Amino acid sequence: MVTQVQIIEWLQVFASVINHHKEELTELDAAIGDADHGINMDRGFKKVSSILPSIEGKDISSIFKTVSMTLISSVGGASGPLYGTWFLRASSVTAGKQELTTNDLLNLLQAGLNGVIERGKAQLGDKTMVDVLSPAVTTFEKAVNESKGSVEALRLAVAAAEQGLKDTIPMLAKKGRASYLGDRSIGHQDPGGTSAYFMLRSLLEVVEGSRRSKYRK
Ligand code: ADP
Ligand code: MG
Repeated sequence: MVTQVQIIEWLQVFASVINHHKEELTELDAAIGDADHGINMDRGFKKVSSILPSIEGKDISSIFKTVSMTLISSVGGASGPLYGTWFLRASSVTAGKQELTTNDLLNLLQAGLNGVIERGKAQLGDKTMVDVLSPAVTTFEKAVNESKGSVEALRLAVAAAEQGLKDTIPMLAKKGRASYLGDRSIGHQDPGGTSAYFMLRSLLEVVEGSRRSKYRK
């Protein structure tokens, strides 16, 4: 089970990871975009972080809804609406929940990915966050079918996400600003894929207990 407190912790940890890697994300975006991904994400998750205390007692769906609204209103660029959609879909499949089973987690990850695909129209191999989120969902689903628990399923999913992230390096970008570069987008890791990997890794770290935030009671 992933508890409501762990969800808050995850958002807090993700926000601090983004802050810590702000320059790196911006450098990745400088190579194939407009050098603002770290700035965009840090602005949004600083805002999320600042409102976490006010939503501490809410159910998981309400928390995700607030995160979504905050990101949509504060993060510019392509990534704001895409992450906003991810959290909005996560909210819609967790109505009223105070904790998540492994199946709930699968539904959440699947719904978030579907939202990003519907919104951004990227396919696997287009060099976007989809190339990180999609293998994670596929691997998580396989683990669930093999009766693995949340921690083990997340470990496998994060490993698949990391591989998916590395696989973006040789890809030619077909969506977003990086696609304007054509062949020159080859040889660089996708910035949005990198932040998506951090998002999943932060969730794993909180759920397996290797990383805690000040929200741990
Ligand atoms: P912008 O490109 O508008 O400056 P960001 O720099 O914040 O926005 O985010 C860029 C990231 O957004 C890319 O690295 C990519 O992962 C993701 N992205 C861009 N367009 C799409 C899309 N259509 N579908 C999925 N992800 C996308
Ligand atoms: Mg950018």
